[in-house]
Parts: sequence; C-alpha cells; structure tokens
Amino acid sequence: MNPVVKPVAAHRLPELLRQMPKAELHIHIEGSLEPELIFALAQRNGVAIPYRTVEELRSAYAFTNLQSFLDIYYAGASVLLTEQDFYDMAQAYFARAAKDHVVHTELFFDPQTHTARGVSMETVVNGLHRACVDAKAELGLSASLIMCFLRHLSEEDAFATLEQALPYRDRIIGIGLDSGEVGNPPEKFSRVFARCRELGFHLVAHAGEEGPPAYVWTALDVLKVERIDHGVQSSKDAALMRRLAQDRIPLTVCPLSNLKLCVFPDLASHNLRQLLDAGLAVTVNSDDPAYFGGYMNENFTQTFAATGLAAQHAYALARNSFEASFIDASEKRVFIDRLSQVFETFS
Ligand SMILES: [Zn+2]
Repeated sequence: MNPVVKPVAAHRLPELLRQMPKAELHIHIEGSLEPELIFALAQRNGVAIPYRTVEELRSAYAFTNLQSFLDIYYAGASVLLTEQDFYDMAQAYFARAAKDHVVHTELFFDPQTHTARGVSMETVVNGLHRACVDAKAELGLSASLIMCFLRHLSEEDAFATLEQALPYRDRIIGIGLDSGEVGNPPEKFSRVFARCRELGFHLVAHAGEEGPPAYVWTALDVLKVERIDHGVQSSKDAALMRRLAQDRIPLTVCPLSNLKLCVFPDLASHNLRQLLDAGLAVTVNSDDPAYFGGYMNENFTQTFAATGLAAQHAYALARNSFEASFIDASEKRVFIDRLSQVFETFS
C-alpha cells in the first residue's frame, strides 16, 4: 500500500471513491448499450428485437452464467448498423464515465459480432474512433480502442478479422480475447496473437474469469499478454499468484460482473482484498455495465461497502489503473498527481 495515503473517515469514503480520478481498462463498448438505446436504435434502423418493452428487456437480465449473458448481449448488439449507431453508443458511455471521474479508458470492441451481420469494419472503427476524438475534446476524457477476437470462433476467423482491421491500424492500440471462456483456452489463438505481437499491438486477454488458473498461465506464457482481464481464479494457484505479483501483471477485475454471472455468491465473498494483499496490480472495472447493474462508481462503492476496503485500497486501485494503462509515463504521472491531490482534500 502507498504510505502517502492518510486515513479517511468512513462516512467520506463513498464520496472519495466517486470523486477520485480513475482509468477504466475493461469495458466492452457493446456491453454499455442500455435497453433504452437498444430500443431507440432498433426503431431508427427498423430492426425487430424479441422484446416488446424496455422493462421486458431489462427483466431478462437475470443471468446464471457467462453464456446466458452472452445470448442476450449478442441480441442487443444486433441493432447496431451505421457508423452513427457506434458513435452514439460510445458517446453515451463516455458521458456516464466522465460523471464517474473516469479520465482515461481503453475500450474493447468485438468486430466479429458486427461483420458477421454484414456491418463493415470501417463502419465500426470509424464510429467508435470519432466518438473517442470527441470525448477528448468535449469531456477531457482520453480513450483508445482494443479490438477483441471472439474466442468461441476459430483462429482462422480471428486472422481474417485482423486482416480487415489493418487499414485502421493507427486507430487500434491493442488486441484482446473475449466471449465464452471455458473450452476456448488462450492457446487456441497462439498464432494470431504472435502475428499481432509482430505488428506491435498491445496484447491482453480474458482469462481466469470462469476458466481455470491454467488459462492465465497460457495467456501469459503462450499469448504473452501484458494484462489479464478478470483473472480472479488465479487465487486458486499459489505459484501463479507469486508470478502475477513479481511481474506486476495487471488484473482488470470486474466485481459487479462477477456477482451477476455468479462467479462469487455475493460481493462480500469477492477476493479483491486477497488479490490486493498478495501484492497484485489489481484494478476495478465495469465490464458490461448496462447488463451488470453498474458503471465504475457503482463497482467501487458497492464493493467497498461489502468488503470493508479502506482509503489506501482505493488509492492503490486507482493508481494501478493508470500504471496498467497503455498511455505514456508522463501522462501516467499527471493522472497520479491528480489522484494524490484528491486524496489530500479528503484526509
Ligand atoms: Zn470482459
């Protein structure tokens, strides 16, 4: 823990969690589609969706595992057709993130969800990129894009997707791996990740959300990723915990997602404190906030209330989010200085 952090009165902690500057490193932009926007886009584009009302759609968000969520998630994404749709989706997320004092974000997007429906890579990337540019100008929020491969599809599909993305290479900072984890280990994508590494992309992968610690090992040693998305199952493997701590491999943990998808029975049982205490570079993120009941500040305030974490943990989590990001050292320093200033005003 950082020694500069002074104690903060318990009743002021939620406000500190809300106001501290933070980076979000694990947000699927398609997972920020609120039911209201799904309905608005469905109407604008003349797309039929199998729900009659916003309430009916929202009430379908009772998931039992990752797959039950993915089924609804892909149905929701089907309303996205034009560049403006992708722009509007991202802009809605940025407005919410800025209110939560998110000052930097690295967005995941899933092009295969869209190209499989006949929407072009150009449409997807241009809409999202334009929203990133405007977020910086209008909200002071810096944002960049990480393209994810869907791991339930083949490595050949991933190679074809990479090929389609290369004309937009300058608009994509990294490559990730998401969708149904169990049965789709990281090593299934070893060749395409090796190619992405040659091309100079940053590399991340979902591992150890529902899948075993072995998937975290192969994400690190075969795919050679720089960050692990989720990674909460790592606590079942002491040697892996030592490796993650020694190499300061960031974990982008998503507490409300873990709760909604039944990875932990309740937030009080979440292992966030255990991961922090073991010296891991843990961060807090919202994953698919429209579906999992909360954006960044909800993840922080609910998790802290349930687990009894304190101000020094908040500082470590926010600082880790900047350290783990793919911005340069001088930008990290500016954000961490702002973070320290906010903590000073609360101590
Ligand atoms: Zn995720």
